[in-house]
Amino acid sequence: MSECLFCRIVAGKLPTTILYEDDRLVAFEDISPRAPTHILIVPRRHVATLNDLAPEDHGLVGEMVWRAAALAKERGIAEAGYRTVFNCNREAGQTVFHIHLHLLGGRTLAWPPG
Ligand code: 5GP
Ligand code: ZN
Repeated sequence: MSECLFCRIVAGKLPTTILYEDDRLVAFEDISPRAPTHILIVPRRHVATLNDLAPEDHGLVGEMVWRAAALAKERGIAEAGYRTVFNCNREAGQTVFHIHLHLLGGRTLAWPPG
């Protein structure tokens, strides 16, 4: 999967500001932040879209969400509020086909998203 951008980041092959990593997850700053806090949380294992999750990935997705909440607390945005987003496929605007949870915060976020 060396052609996958996020697999390359996970493997340490691209210069990236890593905020958290363990044996299953990596979290890093989005290169084009849409809010004062814009962090991407990705599994080390390549999964292209949410549609490709297997039953054994349930724990992994829970860890991703839990990590987003922990990073929001670390950033001091947990009380004010933040948003977590998985974009899945074309109509949702997914551009990198390795699942990633966006953590956005630090400003008022409009609803519904565009
Ligand atoms: P998507 O549109 O697939 O939900 O989100 C992909 C995200 O990856 C976008 O917010 C985009 O700015 C970010 N991104 C794309 N290329 C890179 C990169 O090389 N490094 C980092 N850190 N983020 C990237
Ligand atoms: Zn990948």
